[in-house]
Parts: sequence; structure tokens; C-alpha cells
Amino acid sequence: MKIVMLGAPGAGKGTQAKMIAEQYQIPHVSTGDIFRANIKNGTDLGKEAKSYMDKGELVPDELTVRILLDRVAQEDCKNGYVLDGFPRTIPQANVLDEELTKLGDKIDFAINVEVPDENIVKRMGGRRACVACGATYHIEHVPPKKEGICDKCGEALILRDDDKEETVKNRLNVYHEMTQPLIDFYNGKGVLKEVDGTVDPSVVFENIKKILG
Ligand code: ADP
Ligand code: AMP
Repeated sequence: MKIVMLGAPGAGKGTQAKMIAEQYQIPHVSTGDIFRANIKNGTDLGKEAKSYMDKGELVPDELTVRILLDRVAQEDCKNGYVLDGFPRTIPQANVLDEELTKLGDKIDFAINVEVPDENIVKRMGGRRACVACGATYHIEHVPPKKEGICDKCGEALILRDDDKEETVKNRLNVYHEMTQPLIDFYNGKGVLKEVDGTVDPSVVFENIKKILG
């Protein structure tokens, strides 16, 4: 099963992708997480990606596509994966499509998590992330058991640099311009499914399970 998560930054793609990955025993592949791990480890890739991420801009397609194709070529992705944050542009989607076609394969579901822009800025200010294991929380909606500490690995939680209000506004603009067209792209392929992302995360997940079967 190969799944693409669509939706604005902060719509809850990562939250749902992690639940899907656990339920269906497939890897959760997040290009944002891969970039953040590289930033944390001080790699050249991390340095390059950070210069774009901090401004709320997209990392160039060429670099992002290379990282993603390397990741999905790994053994654990053989039976499927859930992509979170990729593709984010039409050229990225085309490359993915071409590579899958070469393997006689395709994306089975593109799930668009719908949340209006008004809700997004508020949500992002409350997001807390664990850079060690990738877990995500929200100070009101999805709080960790102990404030500021990751439930899963005990590391300190952070407010992402790109979750500041001004940066979030730019990310939303970039989303509407560059990423939203992917809704039509996947609709045209007959694999688009829409879910309401404004309800409780567990309810969103129930609706996704009904789609995936
Ligand atoms: P994305 O991966 O789309 O950027 P996240 O999954 O990181 O989004 O979610 C953004 C923020 O909103 C996080 O703080 C997360 O805990 C919270 N969140 C996710 N889903 C919901 C929901 N259905 N209702 C309220 N808050 C949510
Ligand atoms: P995310 O964790 O998905 O919210 O991504 C955080 C940031 O990483 C984005 O704002 C971009 O700067 C960068 N990024 C992640 N995925 C991609 C992608 N597919 N294409 C370009 N940039 C990306």
C-alpha cells in the first residue's frame, strides 16, 4: 500500500501518517523529518535545507527528490509506505509517478487532510516536536504526559523554528501556490480521498481507516 498525505502545513499529516504506519505496518516517510535529522547532525544537506526551511520556503526539488527516492528504495519500503510532506510540487509528483511507473507500480491513495487556514496558525503555535524520535504534540489538543518531555523517548520537546507565526504565514502561501495543485493532480489519477482534519485526531484516523479498508 503506497499512500501520499496531502494538506496544508499543520493539517495533521504527520499525526495521521504515524497512526497509519503503525496500523498497517508500513514505514512513515517524512522529508521534513529527514531534513531535521540532518540539521541536528550538522550535515551539509542539513545546512542547505535549513536555509530554506527557516524562511518557510521549499527545499529545491532536485535535492528533495534525491533524498526521497533514496529512502523509498530501501528494503523496508518494499511493501509500501506512507509519504508525509512529499510530494509538495507538481515536478516532485511527476518524478515519483515516473519512478513508480518504471517499477509497474503506483500511488494507491492520496489523502487530503482538510483544515481551513484560520485554524492553522493557531495550531502551529501550539505544536511541540521531538527532534530525537519525530513524535509530535500539541500543548492543548495532544499534550504530552509530562510538560515539555516526549512520552516516547524522554527527550525535551521543542517549538520548531519554522512554526513562528510569520514563517507559518509564508508556508501557507507557499502551500497554496505550489502544493495545493497536487489535489487536482491526484484527483485526475482517481486516487484522491478527502477527510475533515478539524475533528479530534482519533476521529480523523477512524475516517482514514474507512477509506483504506
Ligand atoms: P503536519 O504534519 O500536517 O504539518 P502535524 O501532524 O504536525 O501536522 O499537526 C500539527 C499540529 O496540530 C500538532 O501540534 C498536532 O499535535 C496538532 N494536531 C494534529 N491533528 C490534530 C487534530 N485533528 N486536531 C487538533 N490538533 C491536531
Ligand atoms: P514539514 O516537516 O513537512 O512541515 O516540512 C518542513 C519544511 O521542510 C518545509 O517547510 C520545507 O522547507 C521542507 N520540506 C519538507 N518536505 C519538502 C518537500 N517535499 N519539498 C520541498 N521542501 C520540503
